[in-house]
Amino acid sequence: MSAGSAYAGDVLLEVKHLVKHYPVSQGVFGRLFGQVSGQIHAVDDVSFSIAAGETLALVGESGCGKSTTGRAVLKLLQPTSGSIDWRGRRIDQLSAAAMRPYRRELQAVFQDPYSSLNPRMRAEDIVGEPIRNFESAGGAEIRSRVAALFDKVGLRSDQMIKYPYEFSGGQRQRLGIARALALRPRLIVCDEPVSALDVSVQAQVINLLIDLQNEMQLSYLFIAHDLAVVEHISHRVAVMYLGKIVELTDKLSLFAHPQHPYTEALLSAVPVPNPRAQKKRIILAGDVPSPINPPPGCRFHTRCPYAFERCRVEEPATQEVRPGHFVACHLRDGAASAQSHGFKLAQDASEV
Ligand code: SF4
Repeated sequence: MSAGSAYAGDVLLEVKHLVKHYPVSQGVFGRLFGQVSGQIHAVDDVSFSIAAGETLALVGESGCGKSTTGRAVLKLLQPTSGSIDWRGRRIDQLSAAAMRPYRRELQAVFQDPYSSLNPRMRAEDIVGEPIRNFESAGGAEIRSRVAALFDKVGLRSDQMIKYPYEFSGGQRQRLGIARALALRPRLIVCDEPVSALDVSVQAQVINLLIDLQNEMQLSYLFIAHDLAVVEHISHRVAVMYLGKIVELTDKLSLFAHPQHPYTEALLSAVPVPNPRAQKKRIILAGDVPSPINPPPGCRFHTRCPYAFERCRVEEPATQEVRPGHFVACHLRDGAASAQSHGFKLAQDASEV
């Protein structure tokens, strides 16, 4: 998949051919003596870039490797191979000390704010902690910056003395966002930031993230399993399946002209606001195969309704089917190929 970005801003993050495999041991003796009997292919040759002010969504079912990708970008784990460039400098091989200047520019918001916030710390200390760790600011300055951050994320300054359990789920996520903003980052990895919230609160948090992006020229790597959630916030979307990006394009192209059968199936599950719109739900057969033994050929062939012989033996190459729209599927080798296997691409948004 090309690492290029069709987005107009300067490229901040460039991930090239990222691979993350985990060794697995079987049986008691295997675990005791560290004998490796296989590899979990969590992420396999993933490339993308993110520009300043851009939101790239990584979407796919649980276990597809999207969170592993996010953690590699944050350098919370070491990739098996591939490279990660931040503002033109390769960071994936930096030591913890050499990484420190970049840490403040790369921040994270996680799915479950309750478990990611220290329950024994007051809210003002949680939000002020990164400032204390990275800057030589005094207590009064930290307190005033924390108050400003509370205001920015829609919390009141009188809530600064409370503990995490005294906030609602949505407020706790606002607290997590305030902490992520404390060091004025350039990119925030948002790992399922709204999946644990009620639908009405989800919309408020998404709108907050969009407002903050506009105000602070932030970039987001927005990880989600639900295309309906990313539709509102993303500029481009990368669809992942079993460790690989199978489709990457701008949001409008993805929703109006999906090119990969897996994207087509995911989109068929997105509710439409018009109750009279006709939409056929595509139910994929079976479960996602094990990442320890990914299927040969196209990894999606065991569930793809259009799979044919070639899919079982040959891995599809990624192709740019229109400017900035990348897809990895044998059906995209030509329109005739798609038609001969019964794949009808949606022509406009009303059809999906
Ligand atoms: Fe389906 Fe074959 Fe395309 Fe894979 S390559 S998505 S199995 S049609």
